[in-house]
Formats: sequence, C-alpha cells, structure tokens
Amino acid sequence: MPDSAARRAPGAGPARHLFVSDVHLDTGAPQAQQQFLAFLRTHAAGAHVLYILGDLFESWVGDDDGAASENSAVLAGLRELTRSGVACFLLHGNRDFLIGEDFCRETGCQLLPDPVIAAIDGEPVLLTHGDALCTDDHAYQELRTIVRTPAWQSRFLSLPLSDRQLLANEARAGSRAHTASTIPNIMDVNAAAVTAAFKAAGVRRIIHGHTHRPAVHDALVEGQPVQRIVLGAWYEQGSFLSYESGRYELRSLPR
Ligand code: MN
Repeated sequence: MPDSAARRAPGAGPARHLFVSDVHLDTGAPQAQQQFLAFLRTHAAGAHVLYILGDLFESWVGDDDGAASENSAVLAGLRELTRSGVACFLLHGNRDFLIGEDFCRETGCQLLPDPVIAAIDGEPVLLTHGDALCTDDHAYQELRTIVRTPAWQSRFLSLPLSDRQLLANEARAGSRAHTASTIPNIMDVNAAAVTAAFKAAGVRRIIHGHTHRPAVHDALVEGQPVQRIVLGAWYEQGSFLSYESGRYELRSLPR
C-alpha cells in the first residue's frame, strides 16, 4: 500500500462520525436502496461527517450511468444530506472506482484517495476500501493494477454506455466465478499487508471494508496496541460504524 498516497482529510471534530462501505447498491435490489436512503435520512442526518469507504454501488461504469438510471434516487439522497451540512467523503471500491467529478458535483460528496489518513476527533486513522490489503489474491491484484491506470480508464470511458454496461456484467460474472473457486482465506486481508499498512501510515487504527467480514480486531504492532475495524456489507442487512464521544460502535440494521 503506497504510503505516499495517504493524505490528511478534513473533518476533525467532536461530533458523530459515520462509516459505511460495501452498500453494493444495485437496481436489482431495491430493498437495499430503500434502506440506505432511510439511513441517510435518519442516522446520517445531523452527523458531522459520513465516510463511504468504497463499493457504494455494485457497478459504476461512468458518471453518465448515474443520472439516467434508478441510481438517481441515491444521488438525490446524498445531495440532500450534503446540502443539510453533513460532510460526505467517498473512497473508490473495486466495483465503483470509475465514480468521478460529475458524481461529486451532483452529490456534494468529496472523493478521497485510497488509502487516506483522516483525523477522527483528532486521531489519525487510516481509511481504505481494503481490496489492496488482500494481497494473497494474486489474480485480483493483477487485474486491479490494470484497471486503475488512467490509460485503461480513459479507453473504457470512451466506449458507449451500453458497451460498458455489457463489459461490467461480464466482469461481475467473472468475479463471481473467481470468488466461488478461490479459497476463502485468500479473499481476506493478508496479515503482513495489514502490519505493513499500520507501520507505513504510523497509525493505531485502520477502518476498511471489502471483505464483508464485519469485526473489530485488536492486535499488537511493534508492541503497540492497534485496532482494525472491518465494516459489513449491505447484501442482507444494513451495517455501519459510528464514532461518538470517544467510542466506536459497529452496528447492523435489520431489514
Ligand atoms: Mn470491494
């Protein structure tokens, strides 16, 4: 994980900080969309800041995809939230890394690099989607390197929308096949990569998603206590992390 990419995000303060990731919003799963929109109107309303740590959408093939489709309700929900004064920061996930400037203009969300060090109530915390920590999945890491290059992205974005959607569907089918045929441990984070990330960033806390294994892991790095908080996915229920008055709480929302 490149330490040089980690920059400090704005957003320090004593108020409520919320974190979500892997909402995987999909036009074929309206219940998750309804639940996320309700989350924005209830839990997120009045928060100091909402961090979305990647894979908000199951698929995003360019910002021209968002406005026309059923995703427009999500864009409107985010716009309403940011207009009300809640800061909303977004990291790219492996599904929606083509979210761009138009999306940010329309929603008022601000894109952060992955990884990034955010000041959470004064504490530097490393925020990342988490896929870069899954270094045992060599096939995936190879693919990630290719699709994150500006050359690949500009070539892809120059294709007609319908072609991009077709290619994204094929990629998702390929991803499902890969997931089904890969040993589960390979798709979790690599312990050495996690230790290296703690050391490179010089932080005591990492918050990430991607693995869909919500948990709080306490460990020692160079004799110092560290904590890695993993956010849950929204496939079957809602999931978020709340920080308030010095306390982190991982919560699920029944559907
Ligand atoms: Mn992911």
